[in-house]
Amino acid sequence: MHDMTEPAAIPFIDLGAQRRRLGAAVDQAVARVIDHGQYILGPEVRELESRLAAFCGAKHALSCASGTDALMLVLLAQGIRPGDAVFCPSFTFCATAEVVALVGATPLFVDVEAATFNMSPQGLERGIATAKRLGLKPALVIPVDLFGLPADYDAILPIAERHGLKVLSDAAQSFGASHRGRKVGTFGLATATSFFPAKPLGCYGDGGAVFTDDDQLIEVLRSLRVHGMGSDKYDNVRLGMTGRLDTIQAAVLLEKLKIFDDEIAARDRAAAAYNAALKDLAIVPRVPEGLTSVWAQYTLRLRPGRRDRLAADLRPQGIPTAIYYPKALHQQVAYRHFPVADGGLAVTERLVDEVISLPMHGYLDDATQARIIEAVRRALA
Ligand SMILES: *Cc1c(COP(=O)(O)O)cnc(C)c1O
Repeated sequence: MHDMTEPAAIPFIDLGAQRRRLGAAVDQAVARVIDHGQYILGPEVRELESRLAAFCGAKHALSCASGTDALMLVLLAQGIRPGDAVFCPSFTFCATAEVVALVGATPLFVDVEAATFNMSPQGLERGIATAKRLGLKPALVIPVDLFGLPADYDAILPIAERHGLKVLSDAAQSFGASHRGRKVGTFGLATATSFFPAKPLGCYGDGGAVFTDDDQLIEVLRSLRVHGMGSDKYDNVRLGMTGRLDTIQAAVLLEKLKIFDDEIAARDRAAAAYNAALKDLAIVPRVPEGLTSVWAQYTLRLRPGRRDRLAADLRPQGIPTAIYYPKALHQQVAYRHFPVADGGLAVTERLVDEVISLPMHGYLDDATQARIIEAVRRALA
C-alpha cells in the first residue's frame, strides 16, 4: 500500500506520460526500422528532415547526432578558426561555447537581459568592441533561445549585419517557438536544435538538427556530417565527422512530431497557470509581445536565500526543482580564461543566484500542478 503520509514524487519532466499517450506507435515505428535494416540514413531520416523543415518553414533541415554536433557542423562549415571571436551568452548550457573553443576560436561572453534570460543586444555591441580591442576578428554570434523563448532577433540581426557577423541560432531549447509569426529555424544563417530526451521535442537518445535557407551551406553540412564526403563516402573533400542521426531516432521523432503542437499548447497552458498563481510571490517569466515560448523550462526568480529555501522546502514534499544554471560559463574552470564583454556580465552573475525552475512538460495535469502551486505558495508566503 502506498503510504498516504508521503505524497507521490512528481517527475520534473514526465516522459512516462508521453510514452503512454504514444502507445504502440513508437514501438511499431522502431520495429519497422529494425526490420528494414537501413539503420544509417534510412528512409525515416529523409522523411523526418522534410517534415521538420515544413514544420518550421526553413528551406532545408539536416538531422544530426546531437544539438552539440548541430552547432559544430555550422562552425566547421563556416571555417570558424583561431583568431575569430564568437559571441555567446554566458548564461547557457556549456555546448554553446564548447564547440567554439573546440575549433580553436574564442568564445566571447556577452550579458543577458534579466527579463528574458536572453542575449542583450547592448551587451553584444559591447562584446564586438571588446573583440576588436583584443585583436580578434568578430566572426559569428550565437544567440541562445533560453528556456524555449526566442532571442531578440529583431535587435540582434541588424547588429550582426552592420558588423558583418553571421548569426547561428542555438535553438536547442526552443524548437517549435515563434518570433513575430516566424518559427524558430528561420533566423540568421542557420539554426541548431537538439532532440535530447528532456528537450521539448526529444527522441529516445541523442539527436539534433540544423536548419538553413542557404543552398550552399546545406551541401557543405551534408558532406561534413559524413566525414567530409564528396561524390561518395570514399571520396573525402574536407575534414568532417560522424554526425548522423540514427534511423531509429528519426522514426521515434516522426511519431513525436505528430503530437508536438498539442504538447506545446499544453506547456503554454501550464506556464500560464503558474504565472497567474505565482506572480505576486516571485518574478515570473514574461513572454514579450509577438513571441511564443515552448517552455523548455519554467523559471522563477527569487532573492538568493529564498530560492534555496524554496528548493529545500519542496524536496521532502516530492516536488523537484532545478537550477538552470548554477554557474555561468565565464565562471567555469573550462571557460574562465575566455574574454567577457567590456563592462562585465552583471545580470548573468545575478541570475545564477536567483533562478529556480519548476516541473514543466506537456502532461502536467491540473491536480498535480495545483499541488505544486500550493506548495510553492506555502513556502514563499
Ligand atoms: C541541450 C543544449 C545543447 C546541446 O544539445 P545536445 O543534444 O545535448 O548536444 C546546446 N545548447 C543548449 C542551449 C542546450 O540547452
